[in-house]
Amino acid sequence: NQLNSLNFSGGPGALPETVLDQVREAIVSVPDVGLSILGISHRSDWFASVVAELETNIRVLLGLDKGYRVLFLQGGATQQFSMVPMNLLRGSPVAAQYLHTGYWSGKALPEARREGPVQVAWSGEASGFSHLPTDAELALDADAPYLHYISNETVEGLQFHRVVGRDDVPRICDMSSDFLSRPGEFDRFSLIYAHAQKNIGPAGVTVVVLRDELLQKMRGDVPTFLDYRAQADANSVLNTPPVFAIYVILLVTRWLRDEAGGLPGIAAKNAKKAEVLYKALDASRGFYRGRAAAADRSLMNVVFTLPGSDVEQRFLDEAADAGFSGLNGHRSVGGIRASIYNGLELSAAEMFANFMDDFARRNR
Ligand code: PMP
Repeated sequence: NQLNSLNFSGGPGALPETVLDQVREAIVSVPDVGLSILGISHRSDWFASVVAELETNIRVLLGLDKGYRVLFLQGGATQQFSMVPMNLLRGSPVAAQYLHTGYWSGKALPEARREGPVQVAWSGEASGFSHLPTDAELALDADAPYLHYISNETVEGLQFHRVVGRDDVPRICDMSSDFLSRPGEFDRFSLIYAHAQKNIGPAGVTVVVLRDELLQKMRGDVPTFLDYRAQADANSVLNTPPVFAIYVILLVTRWLRDEAGGLPGIAAKNAKKAEVLYKALDASRGFYRGRAAAADRSLMNVVFTLPGSDVEQRFLDEAADAGFSGLNGHRSVGGIRASIYNGLELSAAEMFANFMDDFARRNR
């Protein structure tokens, strides 16, 4: 449908049309099971096979071996802001290091400080979160229990195009808004987490990929539900998990594997979508102003402003009339944000770029 195909929402975001078709069918009856996906027991053999296949699909897509576990947890990425320091920082005399690169990494900081000492290894706050640090700017500590950062700041549209941190300090990364959108050196991370509602599925489930070795080092004194080891021992079925959301992620990983060309394929498509939008922005001779420094531009969230809030509102109104949705910037920064997650087609980005060109021409 036309509205779905022009959904630029920052999250929950657009999912592939072929996946939505399968979801529609599964609401009525899951193939080979005959029951609605909304009424299948999490203790069924079928669901155990869903979790097992999904774990394998994610491991294969990321190029990780059996030294990593894949967990499906609840509480969103926000719960990970607490679970990470609860399991890895409580009682530590040495500070964990955090990068403060935008709105969401700023939300992780106070949660970590409740659990133990925290040191900010770099902050972009003074420069309005307009760029990311160079390696030389990072004050990294070899003794830190871990380094935490966010690979893609969803609000500001800033994305790391490299892995940062030291290889001898556990690297922990919130990849909520760019998970499974591009290939990478994922075996350099000790723990990766990503909620589903951007690139891979509906809200309600958060994927955690972590090294077995890290699990062994964790404390055992946190509430069971928030204990990664307990969740891993229970194969992500410690209590009733979001069966529906987990099944949708499985469909998305099959789509990535079989139709989208794996992570290299989807990355090429995502890069093209970003290219057409940033081109429209740069061609506007300052009418559209990008928020992020060019080198740190996100391939997922294209964030920009227009000259004045009146023009911005007109832009949003006309975009809505043309069928585009989800374009309002985050409430904390305003402006416009075009999110171009995996599910959005290149043709949609091209249509929006044309709209931007045309609007700039008429309003400059
Ligand atoms: N981290 C990032 C990078 C995000 O973009 C968001 C939300 N958009 C969050 C964390 C918070 O996620 P949740 O709402 O699932 O708790």
